[in-house]
Amino acid sequence: MPISTRSATSTRRGSTTASARQCSAPATGRYEHCFGCQVVELDGTTAVDQLGRRWPADVVIVCPGAALDGLTAEHLSTASLRRCQLQMMETEELGEQLTTSVADADSMRYYPAYEHVDLVALGEQDPGAAAARLQLLMVQRLDGGLTIGDTHLYDEPFPFDVDEQPYRQLVARAEAILGRPLPPIVRRWSGVYAEIDPAESDDRPGAIYHHAELAPGVVVVTGAGGRGMTLSPAIAERTWDGLT
Ligand SMILES: Cc1cc2nc3c(=O)[nH]c(=O)nc-3n(C[C@H](O)[C@H](O)[C@H](O)COP(=O)(O)OP(=O)(O)OC[C@H]3O[C@@H](n4cnc5c(N)ncnc54)[C@H](O)[C@@H]3O)c2cc1C
Repeated sequence: MPISTRSATSTRRGSTTASARQCSAPATGRYEHCFGCQVVELDGTTAVDQLGRRWPADVVIVCPGAALDGLTAEHLSTASLRRCQLQMMETEELGEQLTTSVADADSMRYYPAYEHVDLVALGEQDPGAAAARLQLLMVQRLDGGLTIGDTHLYDEPFPFDVDEQPYRQLVARAEAILGRPLPPIVRRWSGVYAEIDPAESDDRPGAIYHHAELAPGVVVVTGAGGRGMTLSPAIAERTWDGLT
């Protein structure tokens, strides 16, 4: 999740095996990652998994990601969080170097950093792009292919299928900027993240992720939104510092 426990950091439970029950202890021996472990209950600072195994700890940090309806549902139902579904895709190798990451001007419509900029020059957004809250983001992968995104859907329940219309727009925009056809698309996917809802006034104005102490020694951290991978080292550091 998931769940981090200080006790677990100092407890080796063995090395990886084919069994989902087994945990892998990396070479440092300072933590273990338990695959296939669903935490279904917290008993004080003891996490209980779906098989009834108990994981005692000094501190529990619950990081449920976008699973807002699970273990911490009651608490998170009153938090200022919303979920967002995105569509993205990946191409075959481009065959040349893309010398910079690319974002198109529609990106400026969605991010607080641009709130104070005069966006009139952007003009009316294309209705299809507006419906999908679409922006072109394009970055080259290590294998030379391109990762291209993305859209933003907030109305739940989210569809299980992906919509072709935004993909057509993204391809057209990418080709216009590159001045050449894109290589064939090799993957399309959608994903969901949780983020602070800017429309909901929070008790921490300006917060960019959700952090709360549920009970003594039990902390929940989620809602970092579309920048969670970028922010994760800083969030981890702050969370850790808050414990000590
Ligand atoms: C399509 C897409 C593109 C993105 N692009 C970027 C980007 O370019 N840059 C960027 O910085 N961020 C990006 N993000 C956002 C980033 O991925 C998230 O903010 C980040 O992954 C959140 O980290 P997390 O640890 O809070 O949650 P997650 O990464 O969602 O991890 C939570 C994990 O906990 C597990 N879990 C939940 N409940 C339980 C339970 N009870 N027991 C056990 N396990 C449980 C879940 O299965 C999940 O594996 C993107 C997200 C998506 C969906």
